[in-house]
Amino acid sequence: MGSSYLRPKAYGLGRPQRTAGRTKLKLPTQLKIGGHTYKIQLIEESLLEDNETCGRIDRSKGLILIGKNLMQSEKEVTLFHEIIHGINGELKEELVDSLAQGIYQVLSDNKMLK
Ligand SMILES: [Zn+2]
Repeated sequence: MGSSYLRPKAYGLGRPQRTAGRTKLKLPTQLKIGGHTYKIQLIEESLLEDNETCGRIDRSKGLILIGKNLMQSEKEVTLFHEIIHGINGELKEELVDSLAQGIYQVLSDNKMLK
């Protein structure tokens, strides 16, 4: 593969390097948003309302649904997206999307996610 890949040893650190690459967000099984507890469930994308949707929040049922076959990073962005809907249900979809992508990118690129 690429010659720029450095094996952990090449860093000269005394302890083993964590698997090279990106940080990961642990998807919680439930989350409190605005004082309300939401359960988080991974489900088949086909069960979501339309096939362009990666996730959904159901405020009346206290439920956040996320497509189970999405890439990990997509699941993470989708969770952020639904959290923002949970914080403010009046926001337009485009704004929710750009906030979710933007916050996720900053946290991820600065290794603020575990
Ligand atoms: Zn949305």
